[in-house]
Amino acid sequence: MAKALDLSPLKVCLVSAEVTPFAKTGGLGDVTAALARHLHRLGVDVRLFFPFYSITDTGPFELLADDSLRHVPVRFGERELVFSVFDARLPRTDLDVHLIHAPDLYHRPGIYTNDVDEHLRFAFLSRAAIESCQRLDWSPDIFHCNDWHTGLLPLYLKSHYAWDDLFTDSRTVLTIHNVGYQGVFPASAVEGLELGDQASLLDEEDLEAGRLNFLKTGILHADLLTTVSPTHAKEIQTAEYGCGLDRQLRARSDDLVGVLNGVEYEEWDPVDDPLIPFAYSRRELAGKEKNKQALLDELSLPADSQAPVVGVVSRLAEQKGFGLFPEVLPELLAARDLHLVVLGTGEERYEEFFRELESRDPMKVSFTNTFDNALAHRIEAGSDLFLMPSLYEPCGLNQMYSLRYGTVPVVRKVGGLADSVIQYDAETGNGTGFLFEEFSAAALRRALEAALDLYPNPERWQQLMRNGMAKDFSWDRQIRKYVDLYRRRGADEAK
Ligand code: ADP
Repeated sequence: MAKALDLSPLKVCLVSAEVTPFAKTGGLGDVTAALARHLHRLGVDVRLFFPFYSITDTGPFELLADDSLRHVPVRFGERELVFSVFDARLPRTDLDVHLIHAPDLYHRPGIYTNDVDEHLRFAFLSRAAIESCQRLDWSPDIFHCNDWHTGLLPLYLKSHYAWDDLFTDSRTVLTIHNVGYQGVFPASAVEGLELGDQASLLDEEDLEAGRLNFLKTGILHADLLTTVSPTHAKEIQTAEYGCGLDRQLRARSDDLVGVLNGVEYEEWDPVDDPLIPFAYSRRELAGKEKNKQALLDELSLPADSQAPVVGVVSRLAEQKGFGLFPEVLPELLAARDLHLVVLGTGEERYEEFFRELESRDPMKVSFTNTFDNALAHRIEAGSDLFLMPSLYEPCGLNQMYSLRYGTVPVVRKVGGLADSVIQYDAETGNGTGFLFEEFSAAALRRALEAALDLYPNPERWQQLMRNGMAKDFSWDRQIRKYVDLYRRRGADEAK
């Protein structure tokens, strides 16, 4: 007999350590906010839980105490922790998202810490989300977990909360935004986590080695795994890119899907970006040059429209490929007329490198060592090229922003960069940027020089800019892939 059409909305409980604009260190915050926003627009009943850090940006938001989620106790061994939930409107939606208020755990100088209870801070996040569902008597079809911080959630459902019928039909999806960050703690951490007898479901090898790995636990127990680009889904199953988890990921190959992240064009489009001084579009490029002049002026670089501006906006981490720069940039800056504009924070060695580069040639190089979203927009709008030579890149957002801003990406052909940038072909005029494959200074130099050599040819350059600006990486498309995956899970289980 044909099954009746299920018209009830899908129920998705989304859990994340970061949500833009409340608290963000990178793409994770952008993506979970976008998932919630676009699922909600599709009519999905989505509830998003994340920590209320003391550093959470609450400036423009009205926070309302959620009456049904006040002073909820959560026992961890001897310790009883308590949380309350505050609701805030997610910008550009009528969706209220849920901030978990537990000052003992989340009032720290940053989102992440090296404190001894770091494992507890995020085990708690998973449990607070589950406990909230219980209090609300809300039974999600899907718990959508993100990165190591929520890696224990699937196991909690199978262990501590296995008794609760509310979750009998709930399935779990774990999205790996960055396999390089796994949440590894001493095995002694297990004791206080309330995993009950099911602690035996943790990875045995790890326990023997005295470790507990949150991400690996999620990979073992989530019903479905995703990562943020199709190429990266293949890469992480190899020893080169799996960061030690390739074996576990290969074992789950049938359940591992890559979905490229989308771009929030409502925030990142030069046609109507309130954070840039001059609007422009694919048809009307004139504003681009004005943004460039304004950027040079703002950063005290000489306004010289002949020289190309190369932009970098990034966490300054090894993953982003900055290890190649010392062999390439000083020489290139000495040999060519160009400007380098860098915005980033992170590892001291890279901060030091950019400081030094700037002090050596302050007329060519500008380094801004802060986290500044508005400046990130102005750099996208004011640069001619955008550099991302990543060692690995699960998806990457900035190259997709760059394409929309007519800022030609020069990227390594890896992960999401390979899935979103097409090599420029001088013969046909097709393509959107410049790619290099081998992770080497020579390969990066060749790609950069090819781009710099094309730049003086305005006709070809503008064609290349327009090719990129025409690309559409909007969430409208990508979000449907998630809905299909959520539904597919349901169908698989029903077999
Ligand atoms: P990742 O998540 O690995 O850091 P992504 O490219 O996916 O890399 O996302 C990075 C996001 O963080 C982008 O939105 C980028 O503009 C932003 N970002 C990174 N560093 C800074 C900074 N110093 N100031 C402003 N925005 C930044």
